[in-house]
Amino acid sequence: MAGEPQAECLFCKIVTGEVPATVVRESDTTVAFRDINPQAPTHVLVIPKAHYPDAAAVAAADPGLTADVLREAGAVAEEEKLDAYRIVFNTGSGAGQTVFHAHAHVLGGRGLNWPPG
Ligand code: IMP
Repeated sequence: MAGEPQAECLFCKIVTGEVPATVVRESDTTVAFRDINPQAPTHVLVIPKAHYPDAAAVAAADPGLTADVLREAGAVAEEEKLDAYRIVFNTGSGAGQTVFHAHAHVLGGRGLNWPPG
């Protein structure tokens, strides 16, 4: 069922604590933790605790949860004292998505080029 934990999902296991992560923020509906392979001095992932395969699926099922993720991404940026940052939702393997549990990348602490690669 939409939103239910998936047994083989890495990020669902981070939500339960089965897989360790460096958690920087947690809310009732979200967890934010440092990316294991950072692409910038600050690289934090914000995920909904509920399992959805990508950001569009979250928005379709639960718009309020999308807002929760974005609010937490902003809070991470504030905590990390980022004056400029990027929020990225890779969607689909062709766009670089490798974990199919929705997540926002919060990237900052260095110059960020546009357009992204
Ligand atoms: P995607 O490529 O947009 O799906 O992003 C997945 C991200 O998860 C990548 O940036 C990975 O480095 C990151 N990642 C994979 N496994 C872990 C982990 O166990 N802890 C933290 N980040 C992870």
